Amino acid sequence: MISQAEYVARQGSSCPECGREDVDGGPFTSEGCEAWQALVCLSCGFSWFDVFERSRYEVEDMIARGVTQEQLEQAATEAGVDVGRRLRPEGRGFRFTLSLIGERYRRRSHRGRRIAAVCYHGHYAFMEALFRQVPTAVIVSALARYDSVESFRRKAPASYDEACFCEMGSGHD
Ligand SMILES: [Zn+2]
Ligand SMILES: [Zn+2]
Repeated sequence: MISQAEYVARQGSSCPECGREDVDGGPFTSEGCEAWQALVCLSCGFSWFDVFERSRYEVEDMIARGVTQEQLEQAATEAGVDVGRRLRPEGRGFRFTLSLIGERYRRRSHRGRRIAAVCYHGHYAFMEALFRQVPTAVIVSALARYDSVESFRRKAPASYDEACFCEMGSGHD
């Protein structure tokens, strides 16, 4: 077995028993300040939990570069979301957060509560409209950088998961 310190120091997940990185993980579970994921080593069969502790917060604001305010507003209109209320210039770009227009793309909490926030699919529709209009645009958030709708698909944070009320969401009822 490798030590706890060694395990934490490694980038990515590797097997505590044999050290290989050929691992498979289940969904994340969380309670209080901790979250964990069950992992299994595909090489030696060892299974364990990866445990995460809360370390900081990151706001979900995004910064758009290489686009005009009009182009951002146009993409939001096409997608059916609002970019106007919190849009403001920052550096050479604009800081913004998408917000709801009506009920389409409303996010919902894991307990089913209605949240005044845009779901993953609303963000996706916005990115698609924006990158179609301005392929050279770049969107930077605290956790990721998107330069195409494909990069958003790959790197969108887990908080944009599919719990929502829109017709694309699995949580539709
Ligand atoms: Zn192993
Ligand atoms: Zn949705």
